Amino acid sequence: MSEETIYQRLINAGMSRREFMKLSGLVAGMMGLQSVSPVMASGLPDRLERPSPQARTVAKALASKPRLPVIWLEFQDCAGCSEALTRSQAPTLVDLVLNSISVEYHETLSAAAGFQAEEAKQAAMKKYAGNYVLVVEGAIPTNDGGIYCAIGGKSAVSLLQEAAAGAAAVISTGNCAAYGGLPRANPNPTGALGVADLIKDKPVVNIPGCPAIPEVFTGTLAHFLVFGALPELDSLGRPKTFYGQTIHDRCLRRAFYEAGKFAYSFDDEGAKKGWCLYKLGCKGPTTYNSCATLKWSGGLSFPIQSGHPCLGCSEPNFWDGGGFYQGQSAPIDRPTVTTLGAAAAVGAVIGVGAGALNGSQKRHAHAADEERKSE
Ligand code: SF4
Repeated sequence: MSEETIYQRLINAGMSRREFMKLSGLVAGMMGLQSVSPVMASGLPDRLERPSPQARTVAKALASKPRLPVIWLEFQDCAGCSEALTRSQAPTLVDLVLNSISVEYHETLSAAAGFQAEEAKQAAMKKYAGNYVLVVEGAIPTNDGGIYCAIGGKSAVSLLQEAAAGAAAVISTGNCAAYGGLPRANPNPTGALGVADLIKDKPVVNIPGCPAIPEVFTGTLAHFLVFGALPELDSLGRPKTFYGQTIHDRCLRRAFYEAGKFAYSFDDEGAKKGWCLYKLGCKGPTTYNSCATLKWSGGLSFPIQSGHPCLGCSEPNFWDGGGFYQGQSAPIDRPTVTTLGAAAAVGAVIGVGAGALNGSQKRHAHAADEERKSE
């Protein structure tokens, strides 16, 4: 018996033909084949419009293809990309696309653990050799033989190489997998690298962000599902559909930027009036991503809309690149050595790890020293 197609699976799960055509239109929109609004990107629209040629292309692919096998590896990461994807509000388009794939192995979500999980992964890599998509979340440490991240006695480097060998394509989700992210920040003690630094013989697509926008990830996956190939990429390996414009290009505060109206602190009149956050270090003008259009939480908001400057998290080297409030032209209160000492005392009382707090203390103390030196 031939394998169940995505269409059959959705229909068997209770989806009507009409809803299936809506889904196909939304997937086409998500892939950038036709226009789609942020609200549409997060759920099914109420009204059905006549299916576009692009929607019919998607419908045809979903009607003839089985679910796409996916193997998902996590290395040096916080699991934030997995978290963002799974916390998307239901019922969402993300859910529907995820119904169209078969996640064979996921270190956070798999029910199996230990040897059982490892066996399941090996079986999936064998069964779907040459046909599965490998998703990687997290950076890969390479110093000292890669000992800083190991699973089941194997280093992250060897696990990546093993899984990439049988993959049809690799998706690096989040800034860590794409460019090394936080683990690669100076002085990068573990020698962290991104996937594309290590895998040269497979198509690799980067979906950077901290975390990656769920709709951007699923839109890219949907493109592979429908066309069997990755979408067109920019010079940093990102899909042009989602990373073709800067945040600044589509920012709702742009008019204030053009008018020279800026917030200079987080509680001044400019901030209260929703003026431009450039003077607070906003990296929107040099950051390519879809935050300003797709937004987050079902199109509800994104950092700049909520009053926080863009940190540039979809660009290489963003952690060292000055996302955190550099470029401000008015002083903002920073923690002092004295206040941090008090925080340490509170931390000790509530059981915060002293080592972690001391590290933070040192960094803030250093920042305060530098600030004083420059005065
Ligand atoms: S808030 Fe940032 S992205 Fe928006 S207009 Fe100002 S500088 Fe540009």
